[in-house]
Amino acid sequence: KSFLLLQKLYETHDLSKEEWLYLLEHYTDALACSARELAHQVSTHYFGKRVYLRGLIEFTNICHRHCLYCGLRSENENVVRYRLDQETILACCEEGYKLGYRTFVLQGGEDTYFTDERIEALVKGIHERYPDCAITLSIGERSYASYLRFYQAGARRFLLRHETASKQLYESLHPHMSFEHRIKCLKDLKTIGYQVGAGFLVGVPGQTMEDLVEDFCFLKQLDPHMVGIGPFMPQKDTPLGNFTSGTAEFTTFLLSLIRLMLPDVLLPATTALATLDPKGGEMGLLSGANVVMPNLSPIEVRHQYALYDGKVYVGTESALCQQQILNNIENVGFIPDFSIGHSPRCC
Ligand code: SAM
Ligand code: SF4
Repeated sequence: KSFLLLQKLYETHDLSKEEWLYLLEHYTDALACSARELAHQVSTHYFGKRVYLRGLIEFTNICHRHCLYCGLRSENENVVRYRLDQETILACCEEGYKLGYRTFVLQGGEDTYFTDERIEALVKGIHERYPDCAITLSIGERSYASYLRFYQAGARRFLLRHETASKQLYESLHPHMSFEHRIKCLKDLKTIGYQVGAGFLVGVPGQTMEDLVEDFCFLKQLDPHMVGIGPFMPQKDTPLGNFTSGTAEFTTFLLSLIRLMLPDVLLPATTALATLDPKGGEMGLLSGANVVMPNLSPIEVRHQYALYDGKVYVGTESALCQQQILNNIENVGFIPDFSIGHSPRCC
């Protein structure tokens, strides 16, 4: 029955909650292998063999939030904090531009220093200097008016994982945050016209198969342009530091299911997956992912963006290792694509 459900997902891009639960509960290596083959077929149909490259700039590791899983949470006193100034961020863009990157992803903790004025100035500065590049923001929750302001300054994409679609699990992992507000932010971003990325953690402590069913149903309904999922990875100085990580195999299975459900979605093979398994990046691409986001942050601060233990920031996770990145993509039969790579729905 699970193989029939997979076929149904491939053909109709949709399943009922009961069907999702059955599929997830009957995960086997053979099922994952079939899911991977179908997902690969679908992504090739929509994107050819192209894998989009985005340059990631982790511009601040200061955060006032308390997410239980994240090494940047404000309570963590063992992380040396940094924030990059505008000149340094522009220098990272310049480095990336020279390497061929045409998308810059600005990601950071929720750092109150970066007021709306400062983010607006930053986006404008990058947009004016690199009008042929896309700017993606990943800076957490703000008001509708703030998101609109950043859009008007030139940002066109926004990554805001919903983290989990279970309100109960969400609120247990995020003290003082509201699930409804997270979802409102995603809807606001869509209304404004951003290409929106949502996504969830795989294997976060307390997560059940029913919670994952909610994630799939939520994503189907939101219909985002991008989906970022990655395994939960423990960070020793957080309350979840003693739990075990999600697995690379299950994460890649879920990547395949997302590709089958949302065929033209932009789907990164995440750094967390590459950290968990040295072959994680390639496994992700072969399972339906079609985006990689090498790091363009200054090398001296990278280890301080310590979301979880052992996070890789060299080799194929570093934009400076260009040849290695290209080789890894080509070795699994794909073609690196440095173009701006908008969501096919926006062309
Ligand atoms: N602060 C912004 C936010 O939370 O949306 C953006 C930066 S945050 C570091 C980016 C993503 O890192 C989060 O959406 C979360 O899913 C992921 N992350 C944080 N801690 C993690 C962990 N321990 N394991 C895996 N992913 C983690
Ligand atoms: Fe801050 Fe984002 Fe980490 Fe939460 S996940 S503590 S908001 S950086």
